[in-house]
Amino acid sequence: MSAKEFPGVPADLVEVVDRHGQAVAAGDNATVLADFRKDRIGQLLASARPPEGMHSAELLSIEPGPGELYSAHIRYTGTGGEAVFRSRWINLDGTWLVTQVRNVPDTPPRTSMARPSDDGLDAPHWEGLRQGELRMQHCPGCDRWTWSPRPICPGCHSTELEWPAVEPIGTIFSWTRTWQPFSPEVTGHLPYVVVVVELPGAGNRRILGDLLDADGADVRIGATVKGEIEPAPDPDGYPLLRWRLV
Ligand SMILES: [Zn+2]
Repeated sequence: MSAKEFPGVPADLVEVVDRHGQAVAAGDNATVLADFRKDRIGQLLASARPPEGMHSAELLSIEPGPGELYSAHIRYTGTGGEAVFRSRWINLDGTWLVTQVRNVPDTPPRTSMARPSDDGLDAPHWEGLRQGELRMQHCPGCDRWTWSPRPICPGCHSTELEWPAVEPIGTIFSWTRTWQPFSPEVTGHLPYVVVVVELPGAGNRRILGDLLDADGADVRIGATVKGEIEPAPDPDGYPLLRWRLV
């Protein structure tokens, strides 16, 4: 492997990346940790999800960029399948270190919160997703949209609330790219982008969601996004609304 050459990539980096891949596959944690940026070890460990029973690694590519970094792709193979990791390398004081790592392709996280709340107020929203619709809470009495759902209309105090379907198209009101593993469920999905989407079809109420295909995406406030309903992972689960840049 180390005989491989990649245009524009220093030979010593090729050697380091190849050795890193072999160390990951061998479970040589001391060597792997020494390759990580010291200030990011915790984040980097949770950034990628390796296959079960990992036993071998193959360096697929290294190329210059973005910026001062170099991007490497390594395929790890185990008894439970394979996974490709993209790592990014930086030279700090003459040492090549990993500064980013993630599974490719980019997959968004799914958390255990993707279900109706315990008080059941938002249950019609989740049932709507099962029917392939985005449903939001609306008061027909004063034509007010409410999100998050409430037991009574905040405008006229009516309890006669309805759940009409809304076109899942909106604009990004705010967004953030998350690099930290705040829960174990996001391992293998870092970084991911969360958007707050303003819905013109629902009185400009704002709803929170993941952005699809967000890896390296140029996300901007005001950009138009379209909702896509991801099927439930199992018969008892719920579909999930995610967003994609138009
Ligand atoms: Zn009302």
